[in-house]
Amino acid sequence: VRSRPTDTTDMVCGYCSTGCSLKVHLKDGEAVNLSPNPDYPVNLGMACPKGWEALTVLDSPDRATTPLRKNASGRLEPVDWDVAASTFVDRFRAIQQQHGPDSVAFLSTGQMPTEEMAFLGAFAKFGMGLLHGDGNTRQCMATSVVAYKQAFGFDAPPYTYQDFEDSDTIVLIGSNLCLAHPIMWERVMRNPNDPRIVVVDPRMTETAMNATQHLAIAPKSDQSLLYGVARILIEKGWIDRDFIDAHTNDFDAFAEFVQPFTLDRVTQETGLAADAIEEFARTIHKGRRVSFWWTMGVNQSYQGVRTAQAIINLALMTGNIGCPGTGANSITGQCNAMGSRLFSNTTNLLGGHDFANAEHRQKIAGILGIPETVIPTENSWAYNEIMEGILRGRICGLWVICTNPAHSWINQNLARDILDRLDFLVVQDMYHSTETAREADLVLPAAAWGEKEGTFINSERRIGVLKKVHRAPGQALSDFNIFRLLASYWGCENMFRNWTSPEAVFQILKQCSAGQPCDITGIHDYRMIDERGGIQWPYSSQVPDDRQQRVLFEDGKFYHPDQRAKFLFEEPRPLSEAPGREFDFILLTGRGSASQWHTQTRTKNSAVLRKLYPEHPFVEVNPADARRLGIRPNDWITVRSQRGQMRAMAFLTPAVSPGQVFIPMHYEETNRLTDAVFDPYSKQPSYKACAVQLVTA
Ligand code: SF4
Repeated sequence: VRSRPTDTTDMVCGYCSTGCSLKVHLKDGEAVNLSPNPDYPVNLGMACPKGWEALTVLDSPDRATTPLRKNASGRLEPVDWDVAASTFVDRFRAIQQQHGPDSVAFLSTGQMPTEEMAFLGAFAKFGMGLLHGDGNTRQCMATSVVAYKQAFGFDAPPYTYQDFEDSDTIVLIGSNLCLAHPIMWERVMRNPNDPRIVVVDPRMTETAMNATQHLAIAPKSDQSLLYGVARILIEKGWIDRDFIDAHTNDFDAFAEFVQPFTLDRVTQETGLAADAIEEFARTIHKGRRVSFWWTMGVNQSYQGVRTAQAIINLALMTGNIGCPGTGANSITGQCNAMGSRLFSNTTNLLGGHDFANAEHRQKIAGILGIPETVIPTENSWAYNEIMEGILRGRICGLWVICTNPAHSWINQNLARDILDRLDFLVVQDMYHSTETAREADLVLPAAAWGEKEGTFINSERRIGVLKKVHRAPGQALSDFNIFRLLASYWGCENMFRNWTSPEAVFQILKQCSAGQPCDITGIHDYRMIDERGGIQWPYSSQVPDDRQQRVLFEDGKFYHPDQRAKFLFEEPRPLSEAPGREFDFILLTGRGSASQWHTQTRTKNSAVLRKLYPEHPFVEVNPADARRLGIRPNDWITVRSQRGQMRAMAFLTPAVSPGQVFIPMHYEETNRLTDAVFDPYSKQPSYKACAVQLVTA
């Protein structure tokens, strides 16, 4: 306790997509401590260690407190904002003049409030004339976005967290909910129906340890398993034919497609016993309210979209959608991944619109009062295409906001080589010490969560409010004010004359959402969001308050023009990099602790969180493999792939199957090993499985 508080305000947490509400206790308007909000419908008085420590990481010596510019000897040195903004404009303009407007790109984040994302996307694309900009949501949610759009007609996760408590059968695929979304897992634990919990995951994760049935499939064989289960459901007649006929397309083609996925084939491809697969199908059939959930184990795959759609297919064919306790439910990663999906102006035009659609461009131009001609007529390159663009010399300037690709991007050695090739790299971040900021030509110091205002949209489509409860250090500015400043130096401030505050931008974004599935025109202002304990989209002004939807698709109407959902399917492909003689293990990566967040940029600044997690890298090895290779507990070994290597301490555990090892994603070295392959539809990187060898010497 820093000092005795005199006031309290509520705001949403800024780490994961759960979107818990925290009560921040104030003295003279400044936060002194916090506690979980017992009255918020998301977290019901709970928070994970990251939430409890959210204020601590703001007071770090690593905070960027002044703009920094690289000098002639390659060192970053402090400059004032005038020099920083002038340098930003001069260098990017010079690159655009020499190589064309598209030769500068930006990479943003699912960590910023919606209003800031929208400002960034609008300034970059309409003001600076950039075509290419993407977010780190490409690394977590792109697969679900595409899967939903193709299947439902819009990127619309249909559920609410109440479904965790209403289901009698919960199927978790590629999701270690217990660590990655601990409060959602607590909601599962509160389910009064004694639900059956099925976990599909190659590892015996903390979630799998608590499951009724754990299906420890061979890595990346989930698509075959799901098709095999669909085949059993069809064969036994365990499907909802009325729902299928009334609300879906292409089921008969799907039923024919899954015929070759016999038990023999699926047992061979997944490594599971036939009776375990049949039991899984029977569990789905017996459930009255079955909910299917997935996260990064599915999304971060070279065949993520079709795997996600194989899950959606199971929900559709059994009629488990549109009712409490059901759904094909993607759990997002970051606190504002959903805001990024709808309002970042990267792959969608503001409000889930389409850059290629002339009517959409006209609508948005009218709302913003800008010429239609400044709106690009095509989509941005995806993150990986921007990186390839740098490699090919097509992108020469990059603006990185609130993300850390030098740590987090797949095949790190190549990623760092790519970033080194840039003529000019700007990093805008709350810390000057990130792996990417250390390589920058210009660092812009940004205010953090708790030092600015705006809204986040969580996994269940709930909009929550973020508030300023802490003073940003030194000259750091909110990202919102940095964008205003840069727009003014760029000479396009008139375009943003109405973008005076985050709440003013929220009002503009409301207009952009009008008539879309994500319509939020019925929300008056931030105060209303606060008073209601967050508000889920859609919340249209055209719908009476008591008829606003909680679970989507209650009426069986989807967002395709014919209002029917689609069955989508494709032949599964083998592992993108199978183990062989030399690289004979499969590396699995993922979250290692509820106390750590992604690249540890923030969480490593909390002494409490550091104590909850080993600071040195570790690798989980099956005891049988360890015996064969002479590895003892806590031995330091080298893990090597075709792309790089790292040292890690061996942790012997049967949680990983023989022939597999697991390393958490939080360590800087982990992505030296991963292989840069991508889902063809979503362009999401396939972080989860590649071939490695263990070297004991
Ligand atoms: Fe914050 Fe997520 Fe933890 Fe909730 S579960 S406190 S939103 S990090």
